[in-house]
Amino acid sequence: MKLSIVQAGDPVLRAKAKLLTLEEINSDYIQNLISLMKTTVNDSGVGLAAPQIGESLQLAVIEDKESFHRHIPEEKLQERQRVPVPFHVIINPKLTVTNSQKVAFFEGCLSVSPFIGLVPRFLEVEVSCLNERGEEKLIQASGWYARILQHEIDHLNGVLCLDHMDLKTFSTIENYTKFNL
Ligand code: ZN
Repeated sequence: MKLSIVQAGDPVLRAKAKLLTLEEINSDYIQNLISLMKTTVNDSGVGLAAPQIGESLQLAVIEDKESFHRHIPEEKLQERQRVPVPFHVIINPKLTVTNSQKVAFFEGCLSVSPFIGLVPRFLEVEVSCLNERGEEKLIQASGWYARILQHEIDHLNGVLCLDHMDLKTFSTIENYTKFNL
């Protein structure tokens, strides 16, 4: 089963999401939600935050599959520092910028669909969070993975990629491909 994805304009995307307790993380409700989110994001994106399915909770799933990279030229993957990231869950994340240099690339969102635009993001970040078993994790990420983390954690704070976007570059995905932006 796939969940439907909330689109921009719904107040849930602008709310600060609620922290989860260990008891909640271990509950059937949250475990089921995680598996539904995994199924929902499967072939459509590299990440999904709980507010995007209407749940104002500090929870997101991330996976950048190798199969997504097959149609992207090698030089584009390299300049984006994009490498596959296995499926994982972040809960109650705290993000620290570890390299304040910013890089801008086109970025979209399942909740701002089907649009895309240039979004500057920090090059390297560190995220402390819990995983789906409530265990503490420290993630050090750079390049595209750091971008995904910033995007998903923004969602948990009511922020959309539009807020950082150079709106003059705002485009449909179709035109992004057509004009090779
Ligand atoms: Zn998004």
